[in-house]
Amino acid sequence: MSILTLQNVNKKYNQAMEFAIKGVSFDVKEGEILALVGESGSGKTTLLRLIAGLEHPDSGIISLSGQKIVEGKKSVPAHERQVGMVFQDYALFPHLTILENVKFGLKGSKEEVDSTSRETLKLVGLKEDFSKYPHQLSGGQQQRVALARAIAPNPKILLMDEPFSNLDAMLKDQVREEIRQIIKKTGITAIFVTHDTKDALSTADRIAILHKGYLQQIDIPKVLYENPVNPYVANFFGKRNEMMAIPTEEGFHTSFGFITDPEAKKFKGKVKLLFRPEHGEVVQRDGQQLTGKIVKISYFGSHQMVKLADDEGQRVTIRTNPGRSFDGIDRACFYLWKYDVEEAF
Ligand code: ADP
Ligand code: MG
Repeated sequence: MSILTLQNVNKKYNQAMEFAIKGVSFDVKEGEILALVGESGSGKTTLLRLIAGLEHPDSGIISLSGQKIVEGKKSVPAHERQVGMVFQDYALFPHLTILENVKFGLKGSKEEVDSTSRETLKLVGLKEDFSKYPHQLSGGQQQRVALARAIAPNPKILLMDEPFSNLDAMLKDQVREEIRQIIKKTGITAIFVTHDTKDALSTADRIAILHKGYLQQIDIPKVLYENPVNPYVANFFGKRNEMMAIPTEEGFHTSFGFITDPEAKKFKGKVKLLFRPEHGEVVQRDGQQLTGKIVKISYFGSHQMVKLADDEGQRVTIRTNPGRSFDGIDRACFYLWKYDVEEAF
C-alpha cells in the first residue's frame, strides 16, 4: 500500500533558472524508509519541502494517505498535512527545555500532551532530565529530541533532511542504526535525505537518486548498487572500472589479458567491461588470469585498493584483503568474477 504518491511534479524557483525538480514521480509504501540521495543542488531538500508544504510545485500531484494534498494551484496547508520534519540543524527552540520542545505543537489535554511527550522522549532513547535545554545536550541527543518532536504528533510521514551530516563518523554509525530501529519500531513511514551513499545503502529499504532535479532510479539498495540504470547512478555509489575489450567466439581480448567467456560471442565490435573494485580478485598464481603493473596500493584498514595498469596506461582498481602483501612484486595477476558488458561506439 502506497502512503505517498508523487505524479509528475515540477518545480522552478525562478523562471530564468533550471528546474529544481523535473517530472518526478514515485510512490512510498506504508512503513517504508526511503533514502533520497544526490549531489548538492540535485533537488533533495526541495522535494522534501514540496511534500511538507513549505514549497508549492509549478505542476504535478502529491497524494498522502489517499488524499490529494497538492493538485494544480490547490494545496492543503503545511500544518494540516500531518507531516513530521527533522531539519538538518535540528531547529530546536533554544529557550525551551527538551520536554517543552516536544510538547510544542501537540494538541490535547495538558496531561495527555505531557505524557505523550515523555513517552516519545523515552522511545527515542532519552532517559535523562527532560528539563535540560538543547545546548546542554550532545549533537546526537539534540537530534533525538528533534526526532521526538517530529514523531510525537503521530505524523503520516516523517521527513528528515541530512539527519546524520552533523554527527562525527564514530557516532554516526551508531545513531544511524538506532534511528532506523526507532523508526521501524513505531512503524512510521520515513524519507531521509543524505548525500552519503553508506547512510543510504545501510539504512534505507529503498533509495531514490536525483540528478539535476530528475529522478534517475528508485529501487532497493542492492539493485541500485549492482544494476544501476545509467553511468551516473553507477558512479554515485562508488568507483566502477571500465576496461576496453574485443569480443571473440571464446571470450574477451583486453590489454590486461584474455578473459574466457562464451557470452562474448553475442557482442560485436569494441565493448567496455564495467566492474566494481570488489568484483575482481588479486591472485597469486599465474595462468589464465589478467595481469597488470602495480601502480598504487592504498590501505584502508578493512581492505586495500590496488591500482593496476596495462602497457598502454589504462588503469583499473581491484579491492583486496588487508593482509595481502605486495612487497617486492611489481606485477599482479587478477581475475574478474562479475562484470557488465556495454557496447562501445
Ligand atoms: P539539495 O538539497 O539536493 O542540495 P536543493 O533542493 O536545495 O538541493 O536545490 C535544488 C536547486 O534549487 C539548486 O539549484 C538550488 O540552487 C535551487 N534552490 C534551492 N532553494 C532555492 C530558493 N529558495 N530559491 C532559489 N533557488 C533555490
Ligand atoms: Mg539540501
